[in-house]
This record gives sequence, structure tokens and C-alpha cells, in this order.
Amino acid sequence: MRTVLYSRFMGTKDILQDTPIELLGCPFDETSSFRGGTKFAPDSIRKASWTIETYSPYLKLDLDENVFFVDRGNLDLPQGNLLLSLELIEGAVKEMAKQNKRFIIIGGEHLITLPIVKALKDTYKHIHLIHFDAHCDLRDEYEGQKLSHATVLKRIKELDFTDIYQIGIRSGTKEEFQKARIIAHPNELLNKIKDHEPVYITFDMDVFDPSLVPGVTTPEPGGLFFPEIIPYFEVLSKMHIIGADVVELSPDYDTTFVSSICAAKVIREMIMILTKTLF
Ligand code: MN
Ligand code: MN
Repeated sequence: MRTVLYSRFMGTKDILQDTPIELLGCPFDETSSFRGGTKFAPDSIRKASWTIETYSPYLKLDLDENVFFVDRGNLDLPQGNLLLSLELIEGAVKEMAKQNKRFIIIGGEHLITLPIVKALKDTYKHIHLIHFDAHCDLRDEYEGQKLSHATVLKRIKELDFTDIYQIGIRSGTKEEFQKARIIAHPNELLNKIKDHEPVYITFDMDVFDPSLVPGVTTPEPGGLFFPEIIPYFEVLSKMHIIGADVVELSPDYDTTFVSSICAAKVIREMIMILTKTLF
């Protein structure tokens, strides 16, 4: 692990202070099928965070005033060693869960959600998983691989302690769509998830329309725009959120840098969602 360059996500000034929310970069970039580059996402998002305000007019909190979090930097992952990388991610998340931390993991590709959710199994009996994505990610295997960004939700389902709700899905095989549980309106979540039941959020940046966020590994036309995401965030801020990840940003495919700014804005809101659900 290494220290973090200046960003809006530096967090609570005193790093030794016991902060309830931790950010951790996971520059895992191993199984991308179309194009890679997600290992550059965590630092790009931190850099992009310079341009956003610390105040959120949606959730009405300020990162500098009433939010206690810290950025722990990036996990040092052995590039090319898929299994060891997954183990390291699982170990890091287990440690945070054991200490009762809420956390936001900055990917990295979507496969990181598998070790993250696995790590939560020791702490929680059952969790609800909210999955923002263009893709179902429910294939059994992809190009002969069982462990892939395209199979991650299927592998998580097999762990058998999650209820999965999917938002923004518009790509997959016929079989995947038959198994998908797509939510069409934020209020549906309120009907399905009871107060105080633990909820984990996995946010694939390709849920956005590629005209807004082209810097992803697998752009898929027909996606959401920022204002359509906000009502979901408002609903989630009333739930018991235990953690979140933001994945699949491949910043170098967007020379305008707007994709990274969108990811930074999503993370700002995620920090606030976690803050709201702490109290
Ligand atoms: Mn995905
Ligand atoms: Mn996707």
C-alpha cells in the first residue's frame, strides 16, 4: 500500500483517527475481454475528484464537514497473478469487515466484487446486493473462464447468501435475461428490502450511457444519465449499506476525462450514502 496524492477523497485529516468509512483502491485488471486499463482507474478518479465540490446538493452532506472517512490508498496487487490478487482483496476486505468498517472499493474490473462479497460471508448471514450495470454478468463461463468480469454475478449467486437486484441492465444472452432480476424503479427496492437488512452496492460504470461515460472496458449504448441515478442513491441512503464498489472505469479511453469525473461524483455520493446509513 502507498500514500495517496491530493484528492477530495483524502478524508478526515488525521489518518490515525478511527474513521468509520474507508476507501481502498483495487487496481485489478486481469480478465477484461474487450479492452483493459481498469488498473489506472483508482488514481484517475482521485485526480478527477479535484474538480468536484465537497458538498453534495443531492444528499446534502459535505465531505469536509460532517463525513468521517479515510482513503487507504491502493492495494499492491501482483499483476498477472489472478488467484493471488483475488486472495489479497478478500483478505483486505475481511480485515475491514472485522473492524466494523464500512468501505468503498475503487476498481479495477468487476471480478473484484467476488472476493469482496466472499469476505463478507463471515460477518453477515445474508446480504442484499444492488447491481448497477449495462450487463447481466450472469454467464456461467466466458471464453472458457469461470472467473471473469462477465461471470461475476453468477459466481456470487453460487455463494448462496445474496439476493440480487439489477439496475440499468441492457445486454446479455437470452439465458442471462431469464435469470436476471431487473429493477425498473427505485421504489421497488424499498418494497423488497426491509429496514436494517444489510445491503451491498456494486456499481459498474458502464451502467451510464457511453455518450456520458465512454471510458469503460465494455461500452454499451442505451444507458442511464446522471439524473436517473440520483433517485436510486436517495433510496439507498435510507438503507443499511455495508459497503460498495465502483468498477470497470478505463480512464484512458476518454481523453476528455469526464468519465473519471463521473466516477468521482459517484464515489462522493457513495461516501455520503454510507455516512447517512451510519446514523
Ligand atoms: Mn459488470
Ligand atoms: Mn458492464
